[in-house]
Amino acid sequence: MKAEILCVGTELLLGDTVNTNAAYIARGLARAGVAVYHQSVVGDNPRRLREELERALKGSDLVITTGGLGPTYDDLTKETVAELFGKKLVLNEECLQKIRSFFERIGREMTKNNEKQAMMPEGAIVLDNPNGTAPGLIVEGKGKAVILLPGPPREMAAMFESRVMPYLSNQSDKTLVSRNIHVFGMGESKVESILREKMEKAENPTIAPYAKDGEMLLRVTASAKSAEEARALTQPVVKELCEILGDAVYGVDVADLQHALVEELLKKGRKVATAESCTGGLVGKRITEVAGASGVFDCGVCSYANAIKEKLLGVRHETLEQFGAVSPQTAAEMAKGVRRISGADIGVSTTGIAGPQGGTPEKPVGLVYIGIDSDVMTTVVETRLSRGYPEEREMIRYLASSRALHLALQAARMF
Ligand code: AMP
Ligand code: MG
Repeated sequence: MKAEILCVGTELLLGDTVNTNAAYIARGLARAGVAVYHQSVVGDNPRRLREELERALKGSDLVITTGGLGPTYDDLTKETVAELFGKKLVLNEECLQKIRSFFERIGREMTKNNEKQAMMPEGAIVLDNPNGTAPGLIVEGKGKAVILLPGPPREMAAMFESRVMPYLSNQSDKTLVSRNIHVFGMGESKVESILREKMEKAENPTIAPYAKDGEMLLRVTASAKSAEEARALTQPVVKELCEILGDAVYGVDVADLQHALVEELLKKGRKVATAESCTGGLVGKRITEVAGASGVFDCGVCSYANAIKEKLLGVRHETLEQFGAVSPQTAAEMAKGVRRISGADIGVSTTGIAGPQGGTPEKPVGLVYIGIDSDVMTTVVETRLSRGYPEEREMIRYLASSRALHLALQAARMF
């Protein structure tokens, strides 16, 4: 099945709203094994909307639209689709009832124009909207289908997961299962050079690499009659790839580094504490993004100034004088210090030069030391994270935080 995503809204054309819906739907369709060859955006203009819909339906079996389902005069997607399929709009009593009770629930008066949202093309499949008033719908005809979803991303996503994904899987007798192998510390080109032949030859499952901010994701996707069968097809391939890549794999089917770390610490019943200089709390922020982090994280110190490194963490004055704040010695004492004051099993520290100013030939921008202190692993790693780009401060800080999370994960695995 071929699909096109068509997002409706003048605010998208003007750049006032970022088109996150298209990316969200595209990822969902990839999961469902539906090929997307086109995405487009059209303003709130019925003539151009009609032209775009006609064009999209020529090339695709399925068009998914978002936006233009609201109660106001410029929300015209439904009307345009009905016209195109030659269907009349009729009042759907059930929809009207749901919209009425939505307004009762939130204690607001329902205005007349909201009734427009209960008008549906004859024979349309109505998709409830538990998070708003505009229901979605599916209109089928001439061997094609258009799925109309509301614009607000929260409403769209809930409807997509609860109704569109099941609709799509009913359309096909195949189920897709994807497994995600997360790789850290090995560049994309290195991974590709090792796996190129395998990736090219692979058919079912397929192997696809994705690079993202210092990490690599290998997605292994199999298609079969049932999910169990598809999963079984992925199993030997995942195992083989993990063996080939060895330590560079930090997890399979985990969300990200911070989830992998928190899960590992919970499993082991251990805690981590952070002492951050150049990352300014980013490591702690990423750990606490994970629900349940309170079970493994009591404290992070953002010790940006030397005086705080000394006073709070107990870094020795002589260490700072002799080696500087950006040094392996300081990183080691920071990790040790935060472990001591927090009582955590693992202390992790970052100190480095995020730039753009402050670099020297000996200590250039991008030089970051990551310290780990625990009973099973005590180490300082020197990393050089600059790629020489003019605006890379945020990237250096992000990569340093990833490296710190990865080292903490390695330490946690050693318990
Ligand atoms: P609508 O359903 O057209 O009234 O859209 C309602 C709101 O949803 C808009 O004001 C935007 O803030 C948001 N929205 C609409 N389309 C998109 C999109 N493609 N991506 C992200 N947000 C959107
Ligand atoms: Mg709109």
